[in-house]
Amino acid sequence: MADVIIIGGGVIGLSLAWELAGRGCISHVLDQGPIGRAASWAGAGLVPPPHHVKDLNDPTCMLRARSAELYPKWSQQLLDETGIDNGFRVSGGLDVALNAKEEPALQSMTGRWRKQGIRYEVVDDIRALELEPELTRQFSRAYYLPERAQIRNPWHLKALQSACQNLGVSFHPHTAVEALNLRNGKIEGVKTADGELIASQVIVTAGAWSDQLLSPLGISMPTRPIKGQMLLLDPGRILLKRIIEHEKCYLVPRDEGLVLAGATEENVGFNDVLTGSAESYLWNEAVSLVPALAQSRIVNHWCGFRPGSKDSRPYLGSVPGFEGLYVATGHQRAGLSLSPATAESMADLILGQTPRIALEGYSVAREAAPRRDEAVRS
Ligand SMILES: Cc1cc2nc3c(=O)[nH]c(=O)nc-3n(C[C@H](O)[C@H](O)[C@H](O)COP(=O)(O)OP(=O)(O)OC[C@H]3O[C@@H](n4cnc5c(N)ncnc54)[C@H](O)[C@@H]3O)c2cc1C
Repeated sequence: MADVIIIGGGVIGLSLAWELAGRGCISHVLDQGPIGRAASWAGAGLVPPPHHVKDLNDPTCMLRARSAELYPKWSQQLLDETGIDNGFRVSGGLDVALNAKEEPALQSMTGRWRKQGIRYEVVDDIRALELEPELTRQFSRAYYLPERAQIRNPWHLKALQSACQNLGVSFHPHTAVEALNLRNGKIEGVKTADGELIASQVIVTAGAWSDQLLSPLGISMPTRPIKGQMLLLDPGRILLKRIIEHEKCYLVPRDEGLVLAGATEENVGFNDVLTGSAESYLWNEAVSLVPALAQSRIVNHWCGFRPGSKDSRPYLGSVPGFEGLYVATGHQRAGLSLSPATAESMADLILGQTPRIALEGYSVAREAAPRRDEAVRS
């Protein structure tokens, strides 16, 4: 008998399993594939800068702000517990517009940054080139966010899994959940190809696949896959120190000089073919932002499926009408960013406490919130 089953060993499932285990609640984590190899592995690892003012009326802000607070603490704790560095670095970042047409959208971000107390600085050509000498000189506007941060998401996932294992969490990789077992509106466990596992609480953290488990129960919670392709470039020397963001694309420099160039946003279902058009798009974007990257080598190209939602917010909470069933999914472009606060508040709820962040705005049954682009940016 497992008391708590978590379906999906991505960053959301692993973070929740670790948070629960730290409070004495040991779960079973089931994954249809290897642990931590889906969207959470494929992501870039951008995490939010601290919000020095909290906007208590904005659910997305609350999750982001709390996660920004937790990341340094979690990173240190994971290192202490496992010896694994998750690559959390406050590298800072530059957000650029390359022409006058792109300026209004970028400028509108400053309103949110000011409201939420996110530190930023308007930079002119001289300052931008002082910060990042290889940045294109062709930008028309740039802002420096000194507290923008990143993690090495594959390392973070390893650290989470190792920390969970130390606390007794049980992992079941290559164990697809085929159905949720319910009786009289109450969860009783799950059905897998290897048999049934009984539990009184089941949490669906199955990313883009979540609605495949929930729609047979009549639960309408679309988690459309949003495919993202990414390139890893090796320029052979350290060209960049800070994250560069331009519209929905970004360059993320890693310590050893490698640079991630991401990411596409494609609505093609679970088609995992890597395309030449995505490669050219990301390459051209990288070279237009940092021309010296034209001398680099593409060392890897991959894709992942971000879990969509019906609006710009994830689904977090219990599922009305199904006792013991919870969801934490639909984080779209921000699952790595929002995972610590998601885990903390979901653990509160599962353990019968008042969630630190009110989850009503994320409820499965909510009216769709107005779509906001800012919710998908760091
Ligand atoms: C290219 C790209 C770049 C990104 N960059 C960033 C970024 O910089 N910052 C950021 O915050 N976010 C980023 N994201 C988004 C982020 O990666 C996702 O929001 C996040 O990983 C979602 O985590 P998850 O745990 O819900 O899903 P996943 O990591 O996809 O995990 C879900 C798991 O559930 C398992 N599963 C599914 N169905 C079943 C089943 N029936 N039974 C058992 N197991 C099942 C899957 O195998 C999978 O392992 C990016 C995503 C992509 C693709």
